[in-house]
Parts: sequence; C-alpha cells; structure tokens
Amino acid sequence: MTNKEWIWGAEERGILIVLSGPSGVGKGTVCSALRAMSKDLVYSVSATTRLPRDGEVDGVNYFFKTREQFQTMIKQDELLEWAEYVGNYYGTPKDFVERTLNEGKDIILEIEVQGALKVKEKFPEGIFIFLLPPSLDELQNRIVTRGTESEETIRQRMSAAIDEISLSEHYDYIIVNDRVESACHRIQSIIVAEHCKQQRFLPKIKKRIEEVL
Ligand code: 5GP
Repeated sequence: MTNKEWIWGAEERGILIVLSGPSGVGKGTVCSALRAMSKDLVYSVSATTRLPRDGEVDGVNYFFKTREQFQTMIKQDELLEWAEYVGNYYGTPKDFVERTLNEGKDIILEIEVQGALKVKEKFPEGIFIFLLPPSLDELQNRIVTRGTESEETIRQRMSAAIDEISLSEHYDYIIVNDRVESACHRIQSIIVAEHCKQQRFLPKIKKRIEEVL
C-alpha cells in the first residue's frame, strides 16, 4: 500500500529541508550520500558566481553564473534567497523549490546560514538542520586537505565557519558529522519523524471526520 492509498490521502505538500554547516564540514558528501540512500529526496541545485572546482558540472553541482547573470536573477525575483559568501554570490532558484513541494516531494537545500535564515522567514514549517564538525581542528584539517582553496580563502572560510557555528541556535536539529553514514541515518530519522508530526495530519483527519459525520 502506498501512502496515496491511505484513507487520509497522500501528503499534499513535500517538506522543505535546509542543511547548513561551516565550509569543510562535509555537507556536500552528506547530501550526496543522503540522496543515494533516499531516492525520493530532491536536491535543490543553487546558482553561484564561484568558479567550478575540478569535477564540478554545470547544472549538477551548481548553475555557474557571471555576476551580471546572477544580478539579473535577483532583479527578476527568480531566487528564494541569496547571500554573498567569501566574495561570491550563492542563491536558490525559487520555481524549482515551489514546484517540487507542490508535487508532494521533499526537497533539501544545502545552503549557508544567512540564506537559511531568510528561508526560515518564508518557510517556518521547514526543517532546519545544522551539521557540526567533530572539532574546529578537524574542520581546518578538512579544508586544508581538500586542497582546493588558497591560504587566504582557508583563513576566510575558518572565520566564516566560527560565525556560522554561533548561529546554529536558529536550527531545529544539530548533527555532528563524525561519520557520513551515521549522519545520514540521523537526518533520515528526522525526516521520517517530521512526516509523522500531528500538525501535518490534523487538517486531513479533521476533513475526513467531517466527511463521515
Ligand atoms: P562552496 O563554495 O563550498 O560550494 O559553498 C560555500 C557555501 O555556500 C556553503 O556553505 C554552501 O552551503 C553555501 N551555498 C551553496 N548554495 C547556496 C545557496 O543557494 N544559497 C546560500 N545562501 N548558500 C549556498
């Protein structure tokens, strides 16, 4: 039996999930693993003015844009949120998120904290998850060993990381990324639990009861 056959009806709207955490904490790795484990989870591809790293593909990892193109997207109100992060713009295309949620599918946004706070204003019912490194030393190690950033960028990213961690109080859940698989299992459990929240069912239960009375 699929949930479409439940007498309570399928869930009409998907859940918006925001995953944040400092640069180097492994959000990208956790997101990829999560998508592989949860086939129904849709991933929001952001737009950015950052140059592609080795192996990154336009339209898969990001939509790579010039600053002019990005500014046009802002002017035409195409972004749900956007933020400037270490000298580059990053933003979430709005239409795709809305369409996915309206199709009843869950969508995950992997974005930094300023953008997440803007999303929270628009989607207070979303799930906000913050990924923490096991320690700050471990975080610096991960950024350095990734080897994709200059010394100056590493310094800026570490400083941004500390600012971001201090804003984790605005999130619903905090997960320490000690092991990718274990972090993914905890995120999956959160999503399952959120689908069972009485607030998501109550309107449908009331409607069905009114129909049979
Ligand atoms: P990176 O350059 O390492 O891919 O990403 C830098 C930061 O930008 C990360 O914290 C990442 O989560 C964040 N980011 C990626 N896409 C978006 C987006 O659409 N909006 C916002 N606000 N941040 C984003």
